[in-house]
Amino acid sequence: MSPNPSPVVIAPVVIAVDGPAAAGKGTLARRLAAELGLPYLDTGLLYRAVGRRVLDSGLDPADPAAAEAAARALEPEDLGRPGLRAPDTDAAASRVAAIPAVRAALLEFQRAFGRSRGAVLDGRDIGTVVFPDAAVKLFVTASPEARARRRWQERLARHEAVTLDAVAAEMAARDARDAGRDAAPMVAAADALPLDTTRLDAEAAYRAALEMVRQRLDAAG
Ligand code: C5P
Repeated sequence: MSPNPSPVVIAPVVIAVDGPAAAGKGTLARRLAAELGLPYLDTGLLYRAVGRRVLDSGLDPADPAAAEAAARALEPEDLGRPGLRAPDTDAAASRVAAIPAVRAALLEFQRAFGRSRGAVLDGRDIGTVVFPDAAVKLFVTASPEARARRRWQERLARHEAVTLDAVAAEMAARDARDAGRDAAPMVAAADALPLDTTRLDAEAAYRAALEMVRQRLDAAG
């Protein structure tokens, strides 16, 4: 036996949770992070903050120059701006997210966040672009009807006067933009584990995800 065995280097564990809106990935990712003692990053919030900054300046989120400037000027306080979950922010976020320079401006922050101590990150391109080497990748989906109904119920609970049909149409437009863009489109990584939450409540979805994560981490040794 060598007198100076090399130290065992354990790389920080990164868990990527991707999927469309209202599939349940945020709740699940936050709980996984708490259970595993990892930091958590909601990457959608970064795109929302950029979209909100552009809207609050009276500019067009589809304007590449305005969106890139907002992404480069992003400050931590922007993540606490009012209205980050408002429907106009949903649309603005997915418009700025289609601009490659915006994605490039946010990439290093996301990577640095995950690299230091490991992390659970949720988004659309975590397993494909941000951390293609993540130890575990989940791709969380649910039927468009189930997702629209969940988002509609959330909005009714906030006393918004909105119909299920309107929510479903907004969501379909956003899904199409997120999946159809050229820059880091929403797609499951080839090695992602699929989790369909259509018939699962939040607790069952979380249990299923935790089991998948444990199995992948055990298999990786
Ligand atoms: O996840 P959330 O619905 O908050 O994301 C808002 C928008 O941000 C998405 O519709 C998508 O356009 C964009 N996004 C992205 N890549 C990520 C996270 C979010 O393009 N990793």
